[in-house]
Amino acid sequence: MSLSQSFKDVLAKENIEALYDEPMRKHTAYQIGGNADCAVFPRDAAQIKVILEACAAEKVPCFVMGGGTNLLVGDDGFRGVVIICGKNMRKLEVDGCCIRAGAGVLLSRVARVAAEQGLTGMEAISGIFGAVGGSVAMNAGAYGGEISQVLESVTCYCPAEDSVKTLLPQECQFGYRNSIFLRQGYIVLEVVFKLQPGDKTEIENAMADFAKRRSDKQPLEYPSCGSVFKRPEGHFAGALIEQAGLKGYKIGGAAVSEKHAGFIVNMGGATAADVCAVIRHIQKTIKEKNGILLECEVKTLGFEI
Ligand SMILES: Cc1cc2nc3c(=O)[nH]c(=O)nc-3n(C[C@H](O)[C@H](O)[C@H](O)COP(=O)(O)OP(=O)(O)OC[C@H]3O[C@@H](n4cnc5c(N)ncnc54)[C@H](O)[C@@H]3O)c2cc1C
Repeated sequence: MSLSQSFKDVLAKENIEALYDEPMRKHTAYQIGGNADCAVFPRDAAQIKVILEACAAEKVPCFVMGGGTNLLVGDDGFRGVVIICGKNMRKLEVDGCCIRAGAGVLLSRVARVAAEQGLTGMEAISGIFGAVGGSVAMNAGAYGGEISQVLESVTCYCPAEDSVKTLLPQECQFGYRNSIFLRQGYIVLEVVFKLQPGDKTEIENAMADFAKRRSDKQPLEYPSCGSVFKRPEGHFAGALIEQAGLKGYKIGGAAVSEKHAGFIVNMGGATAADVCAVIRHIQKTIKEKNGILLECEVKTLGFEI
């Protein structure tokens, strides 16, 4: 479906960067996905408001994303507008022990700056892929750390109320890979990280150690979305999948990683349908074998698993 000229004019008049009929595989870590009718790259809340109003007038859905590292876009793409809180939202400022970062700043960049400044707190989560906004929305975590533990505040746009709010961590309803931003559709604009003074060399060594643990265990050489499934209570998804003998299980270009069974990798030319078929097979097998329904951590756009 093509968007109307008046929709395009509104965006152009407000200087909102937009790409039409844009292949989403260019914007996802999986390198999978058909075209979106439009991808927009807002700078701030004012531009997001214009985009949302234009979508409402056009009666098309919209979807907010960041780095696309936890996202599987369908092979037929998305009939609507993808709001990418990315390259145009990358302001970063250090103020004492705080780092203020726009939603589009990569989390790894915040961690690098923290290390340079001798600020501790980001080490465990330093290797997480993705942007700050998506990572806060997902409450991303690794090696016992979660992004929610190092926040001073999160500024977001609340579409239903047409307001910009600054929330304290305790107001963000953080849970395991969940937050008020996912629950309520609040759009993360900017995040303030609160860190502690530390020893620069120790911080750098810890980050290098976590990076090594990650590259030793995870198939970083292939496109993926990280762990496909949430950790089921009392178990690890990867261990259950490995014990079921599914390492290497492949459909089309998508395979359960030989290195880490919690990852489904794009071995080359995988489609969203391939990944989806592998997911369903894993869910069915683990349900039958262990009585556990593995819930997806990966988000989908344009289709449902
Ligand atoms: C190799 C690899 C390893 C990974 N390892 C980890 C890990 O150790 N721990 C972990 O937790 N995750 C991991 N992930 C998954 C992913 O990196 C995280 O979930 C990341 O935080 C998602 O950020 P993103 O910007 O890419 O979000 P996206 O994938 O763009 O979006 C994810 C979700 O957040 C929402 N969202 C995005 N931006 C915003 C915004 N500005 N405001 C509101 N909502 C928004 C989207 O609507 C979507 O629901 C890994 C991924 C890969 C590819």
